[in-house]
Amino acid sequence: MGVTYCSTCDAPLFADLDVAVAGGGNSALVAVIDLMKVARKVYMVSLTPLTGDEILQDKVMSSPKVEVFTEYKILRIVGESAVEAIEIESLNTGEARRLSVAGIVVEIGLLPNSKAVIDTLETNRIGEIVIDSRCRTGVAGVFACGDVTDVPFKQVIVAAGEGAKAALSAYDYIINQR
Ligand SMILES: Cc1cc2nc3c(=O)[nH]c(=O)nc-3n(C[C@H](O)[C@H](O)[C@H](O)COP(=O)(O)OP(=O)(O)OC[C@H]3O[C@@H](n4cnc5c(N)ncnc54)[C@H](O)[C@@H]3O)c2cc1C
Repeated sequence: MGVTYCSTCDAPLFADLDVAVAGGGNSALVAVIDLMKVARKVYMVSLTPLTGDEILQDKVMSSPKVEVFTEYKILRIVGESAVEAIEIESLNTGEARRLSVAGIVVEIGLLPNSKAVIDTLETNRIGEIVIDSRCRTGVAGVFACGDVTDVPFKQVIVAAGEGAKAALSAYDYIINQR
């Protein structure tokens, strides 16, 4: 219906269409770079000034296809059966605008569901479980894998591969116990 959380997966759906990206960090900038290769126009809407890496910002800013709105709030996504537009509002002036788009990619961060282990296992500043290359957590006999860990690229094939690694590591751990 036009709302997506993954430009890697869904950018081709917006070939020759106008599309928006919500966010101002590295994930949002990468989404814009993915989309500007296929879309007709890409709007980037961020609550804050852009916070992503300068090299990514430079690539985005140099594209004539991209229009960036910083310090704008997205009020709503408009559409009957699919996305038709988004409404945005300037945090500084209160000016409201309606941007006609066929889709929106939401890149405003992810919250790992690590609450159950937050006191037991080491987690990083955003709550992802820290693992080594064998999916070990630092607590003997406890392994972790997938999106909840600090492994980059939150994709099915990555999570499945990490799952296989964690299972093999667990097996290795067990057979080495007396
Ligand atoms: C909207 C959306 C679209 C996506 N599209 C794509 C795509 O097109 N291609 C792609 O490669 N990736 C896509 N992804 C990413 C992909 O879904 C994830 O990378 C993948 O599912 C991660 O697998 P996982 O097993 O680590 O976590 P999950 O699939 O999230 O599985 C975690 C499981 O743990 C369970 N759980 C959580 N807490 C507890 C608990 N305390 N006790 C017991 N069980 C618990 C949950 O219920 C869930 O079943 C998409 C993600 C989203 C959100």
